[in-house]
Amino acid sequence: MAAKRKLHEPGNSSKNNVGPLAKKGHWSLGLKASMDDPELRVDRDEMVVIIKDKYPKARFHFLILPHESIPNLKALSRDHLPLLKHIEKRGVELAEKSSKALKFRFGYHAVPSMSHVHMHVISQDFDSPCLKTKKHWNSFTTDYFLDSKDVIEQIEQSGKVAVDQSNAGQLLKNPLVCHVCKTEQKNIPTLKMHIRTHIKS
Ligand code: AMP
Ligand code: ZN
Repeated sequence: MAAKRKLHEPGNSSKNNVGPLAKKGHWSLGLKASMDDPELRVDRDEMVVIIKDKYPKARFHFLILPHESIPNLKALSRDHLPLLKHIEKRGVELAEKSSKALKFRFGYHAVPSMSHVHMHVISQDFDSPCLKTKKHWNSFTTDYFLDSKDVIEQIEQSGKVAVDQSNAGQLLKNPLVCHVCKTEQKNIPTLKMHIRTHIKS
């Protein structure tokens, strides 16, 4: 039921939030508003704004968004390479500043729920009460999560990002597999207990 669907979760949209969804005030445009929210904004420069993810799925979870309004990955071309490299550089710097102990990944959801291209900077502890569902888990630990490096490489090689949208939804239904030791876990509570054993501090 549309009115009941869980908000802000990846994989709930059949489209990348362009067209009819992109009307003023639609929840998928919430990142635009958060870019101006002093509670969430961490930094900004001439190319990007960095915000805290409002529903962090790990101890450190940020989003880096360009000022330039780019609706989705499909809209990216070679012209965007300097921007994408800058976004990644800012992400790496932020991760280094945030924690020396934790590992981080930098990347994009294949089919984002929120409009306006944004790169996730996320620590790999996944120690957060906001991480509640299989969709959350699989969106950050399967091929649904496209590493920034691979996105940049794809654009360098072919001029665009190829997203297999038909397979993306399936990835979110994958079994729950630990991202560190690759063992399968029965359910989210079990997984959450298990992944704590991998956190060094
Ligand atoms: P995705 O569009 O799948 O790449 O993920 C969108 C991310 O934005 C999720 O990690 C959400 O927790 C986060 N999010 C949703 N709404 C907001 C908001 N208004 N401000 C900041 N982050 C948000
Ligand atoms: Zn494990």
